[in-house]
Amino acid sequence: MSTSFSDYLNHEIHCSCGRTHLCDIDDILIEDGALARVPALIQKGGYTDICLVEDSNTAKAAGNALKEILQNAGIIFHTVTLHAEGLLPDEYGIGAVLTRVPADCKLLLAVGSGTINDLCRFVSYKMNIEYFIIGTAPSMDGFTSNVAAMITDHTKTTYETHRPKAVIGDLSVLADAPMDLIAAGVGDVIGKYVCLADWKAAHLITGEYFCSNVETLVHKSIQKVSDAVPKIGSRDKSAIAGLMEGLVLSGIAMSYIGNSRPASGSEHHLSHYWEMMFLQHGDHGAWHGIKVGVGTVIALKLYKLLAQAELDFSALSAYTFEEASWTDSVFSAYGTAAPVVLSLEKKVRKNSTNEVLTRLQALETHLPKIRQIAEALPEPETIRDMLKHLGAPYEPWQLGVDDQMFQNSILFAKDLRNRYGLLQILYDTQLNHSFADAIRKEIYVNEYSVTKETVPV
Ligand SMILES: [Zn+2]
Ligand SMILES: [Zn+2]
Repeated sequence: MSTSFSDYLNHEIHCSCGRTHLCDIDDILIEDGALARVPALIQKGGYTDICLVEDSNTAKAAGNALKEILQNAGIIFHTVTLHAEGLLPDEYGIGAVLTRVPADCKLLLAVGSGTINDLCRFVSYKMNIEYFIIGTAPSMDGFTSNVAAMITDHTKTTYETHRPKAVIGDLSVLADAPMDLIAAGVGDVIGKYVCLADWKAAHLITGEYFCSNVETLVHKSIQKVSDAVPKIGSRDKSAIAGLMEGLVLSGIAMSYIGNSRPASGSEHHLSHYWEMMFLQHGDHGAWHGIKVGVGTVIALKLYKLLAQAELDFSALSAYTFEEASWTDSVFSAYGTAAPVVLSLEKKVRKNSTNEVLTRLQALETHLPKIRQIAEALPEPETIRDMLKHLGAPYEPWQLGVDDQMFQNSILFAKDLRNRYGLLQILYDTQLNHSFADAIRKEIYVNEYSVTKETVPV
């Protein structure tokens, strides 16, 4: 059942796309009893001066068991146990790890999945030492990533760091994870349908680099997870293995490309926008992958509308970028985060008259192919039902996204970064307002007709 990852790791793949792909991780173990193999990995790497970092929750999930295994193997290590409550990948969290980790430490064992992973990735990179990640929940695709998602100056920022030397997913541990974290992992992977569609569209319209072998790898990741969904609710170990393998494969795809392009598209942009708005109100909202799952349902609805839309390219060619009014709208959509968005636009000019008209010309040529891409995507209801089956939110209002925030996200989430995809297509073709309205009416009118049983807790 389990996948051997050695084919993917630590060797250069000279690809038909013209690039060389590499994922510099030594070992990925996803199996029952994987914790027991940690001492052998430590010995193989010749590591000494080890520090295990956990929090009060992950200690119970895996940390305590791992400590016993290490002790029985005669491995000497130091332990840092952080308070789980209020722990974030922020300056305080970094300080909390740094003040407790011995200065001569050579290897961090990060026991956790979200915050602990980001903190240990960041701190080990800054200390110029290695780290292993011992996952406690199959909740996101960042296990194999080299970026740490941190909150600095109250703003979510990604930092380029390094990859772990080993990723350990013990199925007994992962299958016991809270169900909302498991559902988040599913959401993060099923969003890849949209990522791939965005990436292919960008390749056609802007000539962005694309690799069909990496696309195949991401499809494999999606397939593993959709196959696993029916049995995930019962915590079936082979289904949990499928989910974790899917998450890891998506992560490997990102390392092959060197950025998140194959695994983060318009569904992630929507999720990031919502998260940013929640953060401005001192709230983090649902887990990343839960928001991505909802963003996926919305992006699929938009793609299906796009497949049917009639476009009048000669009318669209009258576009001129009204920068002043656009800037005002960005201020009202982004609040305190507006300056970041405006300075990105100043730098890349993606909404400028020239850029939009050039893309529209390419879109006119490639419209049949873009429609094919949209039509080939799964129906939004299929993904909605998957999320429902797991008891996860599937509509934005269930996350706390109100009508206005929803509208703003369709119109402006694309301006968080310079990555062409669905939301930029809707801006360029001026379909964004009418599509946002159509979906809003459907979702926010239905909001009150949804029965209590279907509302996730
Ligand atoms: Zn390639
Ligand atoms: Zn993600």
